[in-house]
Amino acid sequence: MRVRNKPWANDYITDHPHIVIQEPKSFKGKWKEVFGNDHPIHIEVGTGKGQFIAGMAKQNPEVNYIGIELFESVLVNALQKAADDHIPNLKLLNVDAADLTEIFDQKEISRVYLNFSDPWPKKRHEKRRLTYKTFLAKYEEILVKGGEIHFKTDNQGLFEYSLKSLAEYGLKLIYVSLDLHNSDFEDNIMTEYEEKFSGMGQKIYRLEAKCMNK
Ligand code: SAM
Repeated sequence: MRVRNKPWANDYITDHPHIVIQEPKSFKGKWKEVFGNDHPIHIEVGTGKGQFIAGMAKQNPEVNYIGIELFESVLVNALQKAADDHIPNLKLLNVDAADLTEIFDQKEISRVYLNFSDPWPKKRHEKRRLTYKTFLAKYEEILVKGGEIHFKTDNQGLFEYSLKSLAEYGLKLIYVSLDLHNSDFEDNIMTEYEEKFSGMGQKIYRLEAKCMNK
């Protein structure tokens, strides 16, 4: 993804420390305290501009949401949505998903969302895919027993790869759709990429998998 530099992004983020949590590793094991309640915590890895996570947080006030995004110039778009709409159950982190197990304790998270993750189609970049086994191991570590991974994409190659990678890792596939927008799935909240690609006529693939072996 091309990322446009925004020189004001850093200041805007540091001006909103109650939404974009600074020094997130210091809250490992204490995320319930950050939200001030015992509600389950769902994270989205690669949140982008935040339409999905902000929509989910507004739709489900009994769930706490954390959006994780590598680039601050992208995250500021999510921050603008969170700040404008005053969404108490939404926090954002400007971190790399590679650090997830340093930020969250074992079993601290109930669900991981992956939406339109970068496909990294070249075989030599396989390890960067967010459904590669090393990332699955991190999700498994921070997820509760029976915790779930929900993934959607327009990219057939990445979807096929992810089905195989999750199954080989031992995650149980509990839902697969090869055409989400023509399925019986209700309450879908579209991401920015989903709007763009479905608007171009692309089918959207979606899966849910459960962590069984803990
Ligand atoms: N989920 C959004 C959507 O569907 O509109 C954005 C999709 S975009 C293709 C993928 C996003 O994941 C980018 O914003 C990228 O910066 C972010 N990303 C990729 N690898 C990441 C990582 N290791 N940690 C955190 N964010 C990551």
